[in-house]
Amino acid sequence: MDRFEKNFDSVWQRVEKARVKTNEHTVVKIVAVSKYVTDNEIKRLYSIGQRAFGENKVQDLKEKSKKLEDLPLEWHFIGRLQKNKINHLLDISPVLIHSCDSLELAKEIDKRAKIKNKKLDILLQINSAKEESKAGVLPEIAKDTYLQIEQECKNLNLKGVMSIGAHSDNKQEIQKSFETTYKIFEDLQKNGAKICSMGMSGDFELAIKCGSNMLRLGSILFK
Ligand SMILES: *Cc1c(COP(=O)(O)O)cnc(C)c1O
Repeated sequence: MDRFEKNFDSVWQRVEKARVKTNEHTVVKIVAVSKYVTDNEIKRLYSIGQRAFGENKVQDLKEKSKKLEDLPLEWHFIGRLQKNKINHLLDISPVLIHSCDSLELAKEIDKRAKIKNKKLDILLQINSAKEESKAGVLPEIAKDTYLQIEQECKNLNLKGVMSIGAHSDNKQEIQKSFETTYKIFEDLQKNGAKICSMGMSGDFELAIKCGSNMLRLGSILFK
C-alpha cells in the first residue's frame, strides 16, 4: 500500500468504528473535498474506490470536472455561491449543492434552474454555532426556511441540511453545534430530509456520533 491507500484505509476504519458505535444501521458517505489538490490526486483516490468529490469554488469545480469527465465521478458543491456564478454551476449539474444558505439564494437558484429546465438537489446550510464568519441560516428559522423553500422552489429538491461545526478547541461546543443541526434534521425527516452533511477532518467522529450521514473530508485524505 502506498501513502494514499494507507491514508484512505485508516480514515475508513475510523469512520466505520464511529459509525458502528453510534448506529450500525446508518450509512455514512464520504465526500472527498479535493479543493487542495489537482486532478492527479483525484484520479488516485478514484482508483482506490472514491467516487464523490467536493469543491468550494465554481471555477475549480468546472475545471476539474471537465478534466475528469471520462471518469464516473459524482461532484458536490460545498462553498459559498455568488449569484453571478449560479448559471455556471447549473451548467456543471453537480449531484448536490450543500451550501444553499438563504431563502433568497434558493429562489435565485430556482429561477435559473427553471429557465434551464433543470431540477437540482440541494441542502440548506445552517449556521448552528451562530458564527459571524459563517454562512447559513440561523437555527431558529431553519425549519421555516426549509419548508418555505420546499413550497416555493419547484425546481429544487431539498434533500436535507448541512453545517460546519463550531470553530472551537472546545469539544463540547463543537458537539453542541452538531446536536443543534441534528435536531433540526430529525424534525425535518418527516418532510423528506435524508441527508445530514456535517463533519470535516478534525471533527468527523464527533459528527457521526451526533447523527451525521455525510462527511466532507479534505486534508485528512490528501495530506
Ligand atoms: C474545505 C472544506 C471542507 C474540508 O475541510 P477539511 O478540514 O480539510 O476536511 C469541508 N467543508 C467545507 C464547506 C469546506 O470548505
